[in-house]
Amino acid sequence: MRTLVLFAVLASLRPVAAAAQDSFEQRLLAVPDTASTRRMTYDLTREPHVAGTPAQALTRDYVIDKLRTWGLEAWTKEYTVYIPHPDSIAAWVIPPPPHGPATALPLREPVVPGDPTSAGRQVPPFNGYSGDGDVSADVVYVNYGLIEDYQTLDSLGTSVRGKIAIARYGRSFRGIKAREAEKHGAVGLIIYSDPQDDGYARGDIYPKGPMRPWGGIQRGSILNTNGDPTTPGYPSLPGARRLPEDSLSIPRIPVIPMSYGNARRFLERLGGTSVPQPWQGALPFRYHVGPGPVRARLHVKTERGARAMHPIWDTFAMIRGARYPDEWVVIGAHRDAWSPGAADNISGTVTVLETARAFAELARSGLRPARTVIFATWDAEEWGLIGSTEWVEEMADSLVGHAVAYLNEDDVTQGPRFVGSGSPSLKPLIREVTGLVPDPSGRGSVRAAWLERVHDDTAALTLANLGGGSDFAGFYHHLGIPAAAVGFEGPTGVYHSMYDSYHWMTTFGDPGYRTHQATVRLVALLAARLANTDVLPFDYEAFGTELSRLVAQLDSGIAKRGWSVTTTGLRDALARFTVSARTFAAARDSARGVDAARLHAVNVALMQVERRLTRPQGLVSRPWYTSLQFASDVDNGYATMAFPSVNEAIRYADPAMTERELADLATRVDQARGALDEATAALR
Ligand SMILES: [Zn+2]
Repeated sequence: MRTLVLFAVLASLRPVAAAAQDSFEQRLLAVPDTASTRRMTYDLTREPHVAGTPAQALTRDYVIDKLRTWGLEAWTKEYTVYIPHPDSIAAWVIPPPPHGPATALPLREPVVPGDPTSAGRQVPPFNGYSGDGDVSADVVYVNYGLIEDYQTLDSLGTSVRGKIAIARYGRSFRGIKAREAEKHGAVGLIIYSDPQDDGYARGDIYPKGPMRPWGGIQRGSILNTNGDPTTPGYPSLPGARRLPEDSLSIPRIPVIPMSYGNARRFLERLGGTSVPQPWQGALPFRYHVGPGPVRARLHVKTERGARAMHPIWDTFAMIRGARYPDEWVVIGAHRDAWSPGAADNISGTVTVLETARAFAELARSGLRPARTVIFATWDAEEWGLIGSTEWVEEMADSLVGHAVAYLNEDDVTQGPRFVGSGSPSLKPLIREVTGLVPDPSGRGSVRAAWLERVHDDTAALTLANLGGGSDFAGFYHHLGIPAAAVGFEGPTGVYHSMYDSYHWMTTFGDPGYRTHQATVRLVALLAARLANTDVLPFDYEAFGTELSRLVAQLDSGIAKRGWSVTTTGLRDALARFTVSARTFAAARDSARGVDAARLHAVNVALMQVERRLTRPQGLVSRPWYTSLQFASDVDNGYATMAFPSVNEAIRYADPAMTERELADLATRVDQARGALDEATAALR
């Protein structure tokens, strides 16, 4: 493998260290193994392991046992959180007038021949934090249930008030679908997977292919906040003050997820207006919006009160840094699942474990990383990032003081295509390590396969920014700690279904477990660079450049409003930031003989840069989101929004607030630039 640009940088700083780092990395990359990742995937996907269940206690014990076997210091952390499990879930279709007898729908996912876990115990198909109720009403089709879909419905003269809405999955987080249905007066909601989105319209269905079959159901939470909703912003420790159950901002209407096999029985009997063309799904008939004449009955009863409180367990292991033990690199993945969860998220769990095994093997032979590396598996992510959020809230001060970066691994081995995301400061590092890891296809490096897909256009090697949906949120959005994620994607229709199994993974997702191996190598290398590079490998010039480019989004939002508000102040601040970043990089690359104390000062300053883009009161829409770089879109849940404080002011049509937010952000960018200047001064 070739020597890196970064080594050249370091070579000027610490020639001996660079050679040592090279050998550290070569030995680290040699450990991850396809047989080991396959075996752990098999062991951890024997049954569904939902947070708060005995099956999930078993995965905790398995993980701790492995970590200790490899000689690592390992421990668990328990929190008791509000996660109401279902008592009973049922749904009926009531035929059009003269309304014959209601027919109960089969909600169990059918057994698939050849997939043994599909014949085992199942988690009832339900949406976490659904309201309780037993309602019967005419059905109305609301497309994806987005805010704009309800506007379209209005223009068609149809309302969901007093009706049961049926929305398809996709385009937004399911919690937003529940929020909007309730807001518009629906008494119940069915969320189904349309075959157009991840079923037969996309490819062969399971078990012939990887896509969602007629009986496949996407379970999932409809909580729109992060962490235990009874302890917002603080940890669920013993004795913690708890918000009363009836004051929680969770849905009040019953919500049930459905297969397209069941949803069809409503959709094909809807009358009323024919849908606008973009609303047509892939079931074999013309869709109509209703209401009725077909009716639905939905029954949801979940645990309430003390019965809804369950213990959850995060697991941790640590290798203490040999030179900078007070600087931490944290690697995490959630361990809970609605199903066997081979992809979501035993793939991430196994990635963390195998990375830990690699670092442990080196540590046993005397090669410890310079910084401390912490390996975490999180519980109850599926309910609302709960395990990671409670820990981050408990550890906030320590993490702000010590965490260098967080690497998150969620649903990472679904197919052959590399995907990555992260803070713009970490994107150059991600691109760099892809050049050093063999692609699972066996043809060149991950980077080479990636380049081939984008027709050799290096400018198209894009990495996403971090929005909603996984455990990086506590670190990145809540505390301003740089975060990143890497993995591989491909065609899949088994998300949150019983068919997300060892059999699916071994047949379609990653038959040779080479994608698992490649993911581990990427994560191990990222962690090694973050842990061993003397000057933390953040690229703030790339950061400043990317954020500067994103100001155009604000300009177009302002232009659409017809306001005279200007973004010049923010643009200028980002330009000054980028100049300071360039100055720092030049000083770093030419530095000679920097002693440990000065290096420490440099890194302490670098760790401040993104933390200074947070503010204690957070976003107006969501105080928990303190970072002003990026957030999930409050009206979508999954989509990423840059400069959320400003963007939301534009969205809420408030020009004065937009100006205030722009000024606030520019000030904070200048403060972040101050950290870069401090880092430069410490080098000189
Ligand atoms: Zn996941």
